[in-house]
Amino acid sequence: MQTTFTAAQLADPPTAEAEKILRTCVHCGFCTATCPTYLLLGDELDSPRGRIYLIKNMLERGEPATPEVVKHIDRCLSCLSCATTCPSGVDYMHLIDHARAHIDQTYRRDAADRFLRAALAHILPYPHRFRWALAAALLAKPFRPLIAALPVVGKRLAAMVALAPARFPALPVAAADPVVAAPRRGRVALLEGCAQPALSPSINAAARRLLARHGVEVAPTPAAGCCGALVHHMGREAEAMAFARKNVDAWHNEIHCGLDAIVVTASGCGTSIKDYKHLLRGDPAYRDKAAAVSDLARDITEYLHTLEPLENARKTGQIIAYHSACSLQHGQKVTDLPKRLLKAAGFVVRDPPEGHICCGSAGVYNILQPEIAGQLRARKIANIEKTKPLAIAAGNIGCMTQLSGGTGIPVVHTVELLDWAAGGPKPESLTGAGF
Ligand code: SF4
Ligand code: SF4
Repeated sequence: MQTTFTAAQLADPPTAEAEKILRTCVHCGFCTATCPTYLLLGDELDSPRGRIYLIKNMLERGEPATPEVVKHIDRCLSCLSCATTCPSGVDYMHLIDHARAHIDQTYRRDAADRFLRAALAHILPYPHRFRWALAAALLAKPFRPLIAALPVVGKRLAAMVALAPARFPALPVAAADPVVAAPRRGRVALLEGCAQPALSPSINAAARRLLARHGVEVAPTPAAGCCGALVHHMGREAEAMAFARKNVDAWHNEIHCGLDAIVVTASGCGTSIKDYKHLLRGDPAYRDKAAAVSDLARDITEYLHTLEPLENARKTGQIIAYHSACSLQHGQKVTDLPKRLLKAAGFVVRDPPEGHICCGSAGVYNILQPEIAGQLRARKIANIEKTKPLAIAAGNIGCMTQLSGGTGIPVVHTVELLDWAAGGPKPESLTGAGF
């Protein structure tokens, strides 16, 4: 694609980088076939190619974003299905990140949108605040129809309330670390994150037990927290960088003590941490440290795959539909490993049709764009149900929450199933589900 940036514009490194990305697009349109918003809305401006044009014009003009551009960029899920399909290797992720940051800096949203986004940015990344918000959402559940009827933000507030679990998740108990089996085979850091420990603390508890059975010690890194993805997807780049720097500092000392990997059980966070080296590339004080962190980041299934398989302690053979989170399949290109681990543990794993299409979760997308997210969830659930599974396995808490709200089929994290098969407790959601 030809571009017409001025020399002065190209003197700005992020703009120069965006221009390079734009020039790799040959506008062939292959990406439109796998874009969820184009499939639903059929509007070229809601396709990757259309958005690339909008971004090009917005950046070339060097003017504040217009309401039209903001509408179509906001509708993008950042699912990166287009990046998987694109034959020219267009780096859509960094282009859309740059566009969102430009919008955040140049466009004044209406008061309701500003309030909602600020509330999300100040609550979700902090587990303690998020637990209070979940409790409030739980109390508000019976009033959802009334909330949905509120002007302007009603539908989005109702979507937020609907996403809260039906009952308050168990508070994390300060359990003793599981005993690490001998011989010791490794030492890792495990990201605790923000929303996941509030919504489902059992996921990392299962991960710790699994790692301990494998002889892998988990280094204590209590200062690490939110990866920054939630605010980054809203264009709040400076806040995302602050979260990234905090995590880099928290892990850096442990890297010096010997760390084989930084293991992540939420693939949305994993994609973000693997990209810290890009996010902090312009910060001389953090560039190298961030690169070291990104190079060590692994989805838990990537790391488990490097270890000897464990003996089964349970009778398996149950049919599992594997939901491939976009951040894992498109963001990190981890596609087969989770399924291979589940199969090695004896489960019958089925791939739902249209596995490459997003479930509509996408960070806070299901709150900010509830209609599109709801349609995508219904489409995803219909496809999953075709495989007649006893449970759905996924590797990302956002997808798990999104899917749970649309089906009675239990949704579990891949590591919860692996842990159960190896002798861990049965995940709560599998009670009475034929396990
Ligand atoms: S597939 Fe790639 S090169 Fe073709 S239009 Fe889409 S982004 Fe551009
Ligand atoms: S990231 Fe997803 S929603 Fe956005 S343009 Fe690409 S395929 Fe479409």
